Amino acid sequence: MLQEKITQYTAEINAFSTDHADELEQFRIKFLGTKGIIKDIFDEFKAVSPEEKRTLGKVLNEFKQLAEAKYQSLKDLTEVADTAKDSGLDLTLPGEGFEVGARHPLALVRREIVEIFNKLGFIVAEGPEIEDDWHNFSALNFPEEHPARDMQDTFFIKKGGEKGDIALRTHTSSVQVRMMEAGKPPFRAIMPGRVYRNEAISARAHCFFHQVEGLYVDENVSFADLKQTLFYFVQELYGEGTKVRFRPSYFPFTEPSAEMDISCTICKGAGCQMCKYSGWVEILGCGMVDPNVLENCGIDSKKYSGFAFGMGIERIANLKFEIKDLRLFSENDARFLKQYKTSLI
Ligand SMILES: [Zn+2]
Repeated sequence: MLQEKITQYTAEINAFSTDHADELEQFRIKFLGTKGIIKDIFDEFKAVSPEEKRTLGKVLNEFKQLAEAKYQSLKDLTEVADTAKDSGLDLTLPGEGFEVGARHPLALVRREIVEIFNKLGFIVAEGPEIEDDWHNFSALNFPEEHPARDMQDTFFIKKGGEKGDIALRTHTSSVQVRMMEAGKPPFRAIMPGRVYRNEAISARAHCFFHQVEGLYVDENVSFADLKQTLFYFVQELYGEGTKVRFRPSYFPFTEPSAEMDISCTICKGAGCQMCKYSGWVEILGCGMVDPNVLENCGIDSKKYSGFAFGMGIERIANLKFEIKDLRLFSENDARFLKQYKTSLI
């Protein structure tokens, strides 16, 4: 008898649902009230035989817990619904979608470059974007009035100052100077960062861009070390079999200086628009640190030698992703930026 009642009421409780407070109150009175069904059943339970008590006791307790849990969960729901009604919210409306962001392609390439040089033991060094003349030019072997200063159109901020005019840095070489001034060899570091040039904005030039420079200073560092380091870097970044070649060049802060080309990653040397049908593309400048630069930074150039290199992250990214217009990097068009969501993460 009692078991049947419990089964029947269990089905009733399971089927019950409401978000109206008054209906829920009727449910409470019917089952959980002082004169409710559960009270009646517990009274009946007292009269059953000891054997039945053993089996029914557990069933009865579970039944009571079921009724209480049902009541509590519906009570929570009706309270939420009431709050929503009071504040004019419509809980049936769909929620706002959650959009996953994407790393900027330049951040992806920068991270990849940093990881490759990390494997060779290069640490990351950083410095200020607003620099004085000493750190941006003079210490790097750009004497006053030297025509080499015209190679880089500069955004000047303030004339004069303890260490010369103040300007937005035109390259991250200034970080190399700061590092060498502050420490003692050996140095093995890369300097990623944003740099500024006073140039008209076009598909191929911008007033700011990003560089990664590298510096290695120790005893007996040679041009062969430079070549092997950069060769390793190119194989890691563009894949094994990528060819490199060095062409003599001129920079005030290195002697000898070179520009490094790699075999075109797009046409594999056959000739295309990117490599202007030469099969080669220039990706960086490099050379042995000029002894004057070492001396300017307080380093004995007879004991120590070093190499340095520098590349534009935009250029590396252009070759990797075949992006033909530099302006896309800074226009914040999500459709452009999102394309690179899965390519390297
Ligand atoms: Zn090509």
